[in-house]
Amino acid sequence: MPTTATRLSVFTESVIRGMTRLSNQHGAINLSQGFPDFAPHPELTAALEKAAHSDCHQYAVTWGAPRFRAALARKIRSFAGIDLDPDAHLVVTCGSTEAMMVAMMTACNPGDRVIVFSPFYENYAADAILSGAEPVYVPLHPPGFGFDPDELRRAFRLGPKAIVVCNPSNPTGKVFTREELGLILALAEEHDAFVITDEPYEHIVYEPHRHEYVAAMPGAFERTITCNSLSKTYSITGWRLGYVQAAPHVIAQARKVHDFLTIGAAAPLQEAAVAGLELPHSYYTGLGELYARKRDLFLGILRRTGLPFTEPQGAYYVMVDVSALGFATDTAAAEWLVREVGVAGVPGSSFFREPEHRYIRFHFAKREETLLAAGERLARLGRLGA
Ligand code: GLN
Repeated sequence: MPTTATRLSVFTESVIRGMTRLSNQHGAINLSQGFPDFAPHPELTAALEKAAHSDCHQYAVTWGAPRFRAALARKIRSFAGIDLDPDAHLVVTCGSTEAMMVAMMTACNPGDRVIVFSPFYENYAADAILSGAEPVYVPLHPPGFGFDPDELRRAFRLGPKAIVVCNPSNPTGKVFTREELGLILALAEEHDAFVITDEPYEHIVYEPHRHEYVAAMPGAFERTITCNSLSKTYSITGWRLGYVQAAPHVIAQARKVHDFLTIGAAAPLQEAAVAGLELPHSYYTGLGELYARKRDLFLGILRRTGLPFTEPQGAYYVMVDVSALGFATDTAAAEWLVREVGVAGVPGSSFFREPEHRYIRFHFAKREETLLAAGERLARLGRLGA
């Protein structure tokens, strides 16, 4: 029998998605795969209903429906201050997941190296490998998950083609400061590398932290490939809408990759999502406040378990150190939590390059009652004397 491609043996199926399946199987409260259990803004659902009865059921323009790209460019301009030409600087994709794959395939030749911070969102290594590139890992050191500038300099000396920066970061909740991004950018300039950013949590940042758009930093636009998604900002993870934003000559190539991967994102959903992109600034302030309340509630629950964790500065994930529970691995702890406690998280090892088995990642993008119910179950961990 013919054998399948060897590059696929280098990585596993998504552990995040695997935990969702296990959670469903056991009827657990799913704090593993990060998605909300509350409805999107009513303007979005109303626009979706309207889109169903409009003339947008066939392929949209491959690189994105014009109305959607125009609204997207306006929204980006108002937050990042970048003057975008919707016809030259954007490709609409099926989520940031496709955007990252497109970015990596656009930037890299087989054999190129790509710097990835570890821990990292699990897609990045797979994206690099599927594009024939080799990930080079630079550690983010717990508990603050900062990087050592010398370790980053050493990685750049290997001549990478690109560096991936997830900001705000999944899974660590780190928000990169302007100084940190400035150093990354300076090294990328010195070694002539692309900076590929993944920024789906741009509007979920907690005081006093601030989101900095790399592409808007001085001299950065030409070498930055920004990937982003509407999933988290508008609570529409199932709509699969994202985009790549870059300089025109990069976009011209990215369009080709996207065209042959997927042709395009769903046309009726692009039409409906315009309503989200046109929401006033107060929507984003409200979103930030909503998540700040969820964060406070969930961190309170975690504090009562006695387990150590890192307070997220942005995004909606918390890395909880479960070593006090006494399991041999984080996977064993996560499976026990699903089966016996009824709460699902993601074994932290799936995000690390290093053999790190201390953490479970939980997310708190859930209704208050869901978080309180999870809290009642997790209270048991405190009684275990953790
Ligand atoms: N970004 C979310 C997470 O990290 C969802 C991942 C996914 O399944 N695409 O959990």
